Amino acid sequence: MKKPVIVLDPGHGMNDPGAIGSGLMEKELTLKIASRIANKLRGMADVRMTRTDDTAFDTDKSSDLKARCAFANRLQADYFVSVHINAGGGTGFESYVYSGTAAGSRTEALRSVIHAKVSAAFAKYGLEDRGRKSGDLAVLRQTAMPAVLLEYGFIDRAADASLLKNEAFLDQLAASTAEGLAEAFALGPVSVSPDKSQPQAQPDFSKGVEAAIAKLHEHGVIDSPAYWNNVMTNGQTPDAEYTAVLIRRMADKLRG
Ligand SMILES: [Zn+2]
Repeated sequence: MKKPVIVLDPGHGMNDPGAIGSGLMEKELTLKIASRIANKLRGMADVRMTRTDDTAFDTDKSSDLKARCAFANRLQADYFVSVHINAGGGTGFESYVYSGTAAGSRTEALRSVIHAKVSAAFAKYGLEDRGRKSGDLAVLRQTAMPAVLLEYGFIDRAADASLLKNEAFLDQLAASTAEGLAEAFALGPVSVSPDKSQPQAQPDFSKGVEAAIAKLHEHGVIDSPAYWNNVMTNGQTPDAEYTAVLIRRMADKLRG
């Protein structure tokens, strides 16, 4: 049986830190949690990440979100999971599906399974379940497959933030999410052993391509070798959108 393609989207990155508070940055927490989810599902699902380090597809926020969705759409992913940390005076966990998602839909069914697992992990640490919500969020609107956005606690609330600084807690959040995904896609039991979260192995490139990518990075056309790898590892050529972004960046460099 073909493994489901699950795209994990660590929110924010590069020049966009996301929410900041309590000495924490959202973009770092989302990458940690998403990387751990990916590690726990390795071999069980075809897990792809929209970023594997502190980068993004574009410095412009709306172009970046669009590119994250295009990445999943091009892969014809079975599911899109966007990982975020909340801010703005609350506490606990909440999940989002796109506005107007029908109660009996697959999107809602998948979300319900994952929400139950993750909210239970929060409850174990005494943090509340803020509920199953919906919203007109870009990554939910522009993805062609069922999608969910998860808000793992509040970065600016002391109770949440002290837990978000705790590696064991982050591991619990990742494990509960991986268990939810495994249940939703009938993948079997997830390894729950603690995880030191290594970034995913980068694909092998021939020396020439590696050198070319390193040059693009050195000259600031791409923000990291991973930016290129993220776009290219589908075994497909980059589409017009990515090509346009790269040419624009090269033009910016030549001009300035
Ligand atoms: Zn966010």
